[in-house]
Parts: sequence; C-alpha cells; structure tokens
Amino acid sequence: MYSKKTDCVHGQQQHQGINNPIYTSTANRYIGYDELLYPRNFNTENQKAIVEKLCRLEKAEAGIIFSSGTAAISTVLFSFLKAGDHALFSKEIYGGTAKLIVEEFQKYNIEFDFVSNVQLERLDSMIRENTKMIYTETPSNPLLSVVDLQAVSAVAKRNNLLSVVDNTFATPIIQNPISLGFDVVVHSGTKYLGGHHDLCFGAIVTSEKLKNVIYQSALNFGGSLNGLDCYLIERSLKTLALRVEKQNSNALKLAIALQENPKISAVYYPGLKSHPNHAIAGGQMTGGFGGMLSFELKDSSKTEKFLNGLQLIIPALSLGGVETTICQPSTSSHASLSEEERLEQGITHALMRLSVGIEDADDLVRDIETALASSH
Ligand SMILES: *Cc1c(COP(=O)(O)O)cnc(C)c1O
Repeated sequence: MYSKKTDCVHGQQQHQGINNPIYTSTANRYIGYDELLYPRNFNTENQKAIVEKLCRLEKAEAGIIFSSGTAAISTVLFSFLKAGDHALFSKEIYGGTAKLIVEEFQKYNIEFDFVSNVQLERLDSMIRENTKMIYTETPSNPLLSVVDLQAVSAVAKRNNLLSVVDNTFATPIIQNPISLGFDVVVHSGTKYLGGHHDLCFGAIVTSEKLKNVIYQSALNFGGSLNGLDCYLIERSLKTLALRVEKQNSNALKLAIALQENPKISAVYYPGLKSHPNHAIAGGQMTGGFGGMLSFELKDSSKTEKFLNGLQLIIPALSLGGVETTICQPSTSSHASLSEEERLEQGITHALMRLSVGIEDADDLVRDIETALASSH
C-alpha cells in the first residue's frame, strides 16, 4: 500500500517502457486470443491502465472510462433505471446532469424528484415504493454546499436503493465515497483528472458486480474513449495529487483573503470555519477542501467591470485545470434558468465562481484585489 501521491505516479507495469505505448488499433487479431480487443469493449491496454489507477485512487474494485462525464453518467442512470422506476436527485447537481434527467427520463417513463442538499433530512419521506436510486454531488456547483455522504449512503442502504455520487469537484485525492458506503462514483475527467483544459472524458468506479451491470449497457451506448486521449490521461494522472494539493492550498488562501475584502459580501468555501457544512466537509474530505470557491460582490452593478479588469484569471467555463478560471453563473452555466429559479438556489447576479489553479497564490489574490479596486 502506497500513498495516493505515489499511486498517481506509478501504475501497473505492463511493458519495458516506463510509459505505456499508445495503442491505436481498432482492428485486432482474434484467432488464438481469449478476449476480443476493441475500443468499445473498453478493454484496450490504454483504457485498462487508467481504470486500474483510478480504482486504486478511489479504493474501488472496478471501473470504466468513457468519452465524457456525461457519457459515464447517462450510462449509469440507464443501466439501473427502467420504465416505472423512480429516482431521487440532489437539486444542486451539475446543470448538464439535471438537463439529461428532465429531458430524457420522461421519454422512458422514469420518474424523478429533486431534493435540496439543505433538506436532505427530507430524503426518507420522499422515498416511494418504486424508488431505486439516490444520486448526489458534493461539494456542489456553484455554492459549494457539502452533502453528508455517510448519512446519505445509510439512507440508501436502509431502503435498498442504489447510491450514486458525482465526485468531480472533490477528486479521488480528497474524497473516496466508496469508503463512505456509496455504490457508484462518477467523474467528469474533463475537469481535475485531466487538469489541463485539453481533455474530455468520464469515469465510473464501483464494485466488480455493479461494474458488470454497467458494462453491459456501456457496450450498447458506446461512449468509449480513444487511445490517444487515454495516453494524455495517463500522463495527467501522474500529477493529479500534486495539482490538487496546490489547488487546495491556493483556494484556502484566496478564500481567507477574499473574506476580508470589504467589496465582497460573501465567500463560499467548505474550508472556511464560517461555512455551514465545514464540520461535515472536514470529516469526509482529507488533505484539503478542493479548488472550487465562490464569492459575491457587494455591488452587483460592478460584475462586468470586475471581470474585464482581471489580468491573470481567465473568465472561462469548465474548471479543474492548472490555470485559474472564473465564471459568473447567472450569465453562463445557469443562464438558462429564470432569475426566480436562480435566486431560489441562491445564485445572484453578483456571484462569481472560481476554479483555482496552481499559480502563485499571492499573484491570484493581487489580481482579484486590483480588478475589484479598478471596477469601483
Ligand atoms: C462537467 C461536469 C460534468 C459533465 O462532464 P462532461 O465531461 O462535460 O460531460 C458532470 N458533473 C460535474 C460535476 C461536472 O463539473
């Protein structure tokens, strides 16, 4: 047993080279071989190398990698849910996942309800006869609320439901939901696992038994990944722990500095003692509280000037890369909601979501402070 930092770097040694060769072949000899090698069979050497490493980091038995986080999520949902079933979802899940549920489920007669993270104690009362799954995400986007994973998995077990969690924001470095009783973990690898804003992929990790169920659907849905991307993922994973460690410490420094700035009215970061779920976060996240944080400008009329005034931090969507990026959810990720729906979720026009990179923390603080000063 090595630490995660070591496990990120070293993988199963299959070849003489320290790095696995890139395996691009889609046609493979079959006579005399047990296994039919094919990318959509999720069994190429490059695919297997990544899965093996992710499983070790997530303390899981088995996994599958996909061509996007959404491919991973949709495959899991449709592996386990069928017509007449009901599933419960956190209200604060990723927008794309919510869209998938709302737009696709009714075509297949699958019922669903959303429940807010702050009302998870209502879970028990929302479980019906036909409920089959609980799906959550923590920390949440964009307000970084934290779900008590042990409590939710206990409800799931008591009611014989499958529990699924999106672990994208936390990464396997700081949070291992399988160890907290969850059945299936999904990832958008496009974010921290890739980490350089140049890859799109997804992953699931789970038990061997549940993987076999998901695998049968995955073969049919076909969201597999090519060898070239796999090679880059393998390379990215070597620095995952190092990147996350720096992103954690940068985010905490920024959160503390922003909290003291008079032009900022609120900072949302699970690592702050003032965060309502700080204790739960500390209990289930190890080594840090993640690289995502949000804050609110006191004067909502200054948002555009503030964003234009940033010299270093890049206004961009997506997250989890080495460069610090910022977005205003009300005009980007959550623009399709009505203002009323946004406010109901606590997303004001003045809210800014920061994905903290690996730059020098003081440079980042100075960039925000300068942009704040020049916008007012
Ligand atoms: C981006 C994201 C997804 C979707 O992943 P893609 O790789 O873009 O398909 C799912 N969940 C979370 C939390 C995300 O941030």
